[in-house]
Amino acid sequence: MKTHPSITPFLPDNVLSRIADPAVQAMGEKLLKGERLEPNDGLACFNTQDLIGLGQIASAVKQSRYGDKAFFISNHHLNYTNVCENKCRFCAFHRDPHSEDAYTFSPSEAAELIARSPVADLREIHLVGGCHPDLGLDYYTDLLKALTREKSALKLKAFTAVEIDHMASKAGLSSLDCLKRLKEAGLSAMPGGGAEVFSERVRKALFPNKISADHWLRIHGEAHGLGVGTNATLLFGHMETVEERVTHLFRLRDQQDITKGFRAFIALPFHPDNTPMSHLPGPTGVDILKTIATARLVLDNIDHIKAYWVMLGPKLTQTALHFGADDLEGTIVKERIAHQAGAATASGLTRKRLIELIEEAGLVPGQRDTFHKPIQES
Ligand code: SF4
Repeated sequence: MKTHPSITPFLPDNVLSRIADPAVQAMGEKLLKGERLEPNDGLACFNTQDLIGLGQIASAVKQSRYGDKAFFISNHHLNYTNVCENKCRFCAFHRDPHSEDAYTFSPSEAAELIARSPVADLREIHLVGGCHPDLGLDYYTDLLKALTREKSALKLKAFTAVEIDHMASKAGLSSLDCLKRLKEAGLSAMPGGGAEVFSERVRKALFPNKISADHWLRIHGEAHGLGVGTNATLLFGHMETVEERVTHLFRLRDQQDITKGFRAFIALPFHPDNTPMSHLPGPTGVDILKTIATARLVLDNIDHIKAYWVMLGPKLTQTALHFGADDLEGTIVKERIAHQAGAATASGLTRKRLIELIEEAGLVPGQRDTFHKPIQES
């Protein structure tokens, strides 16, 4: 089993001995010995009052892998349709097909949008949308082909496991055969959305029309088997318990032990505006930092932990880069999903601003590609 690299140089005795919470200190000692964490360690991370001690250990793990580097990508998020039949209760993005503000881009419209992208050194398109009742598999394969027709070097990180399941069942295909067809059409990687939180209790309450945890993990495992790397997410700060968050992280770690294709994990703080749960406050900054730090410590076999600036805001993103995160996503250009739910950030950031954010945090920016390979600056 993969474990973290040695953190000894980054967590000296005089730092570890000053950590106030004995449970957090014991976890640091375990990691120094190269041992894997157990679920009770994950619970200790969430239950501790010693945020700084937890952050010091998570930051030591991050530094042992990447030193002072923090990564970003020049990318463009494209949501090809907001029509969705799933109607998840936490979602402010979906629309009925006949809503006034429902939209679906044709493949040529989507390609035109990307041709006009303001990102000069565009590397990746992040492509996700709703589960549209009337689109067939040809639409999705045509979309992938259209997007790379003019810029064949572009990589397509496209379609959550939920969308893959939806298009496969409409086409009468297995998810594996559907993935093969999408790969032939240009799919390079998959995003990590649609996992929400691996809890049947929460699924029944908030997203009963979405695939189960087993199904989500199976589709990601199938993608890994085809050489298609994927991301993983956790939507937190709504009605889930910390035990359910810990279960979620350990199920991801178990899956990764077997199929080894998760590249990055992203903790997504729930944004309540314009959802049926708008009475909820969403998670606090402390809770967000604890979740990111815990993910870094538990997920010893997933290389990258993102601080998703769209949902964290620039200042908490900079802080999260000192709580275990090593990557802040990308230029994005036009984010719609979190903004429909009240995200107060810009809809995109320039490459220059991403570099400034990292440097202002006292770190060294590194541009990467979809596969998290460093890009040499020209
Ligand atoms: S979260 Fe995704 S699947 Fe659920 S309603 Fe929104 S767009 Fe549809």
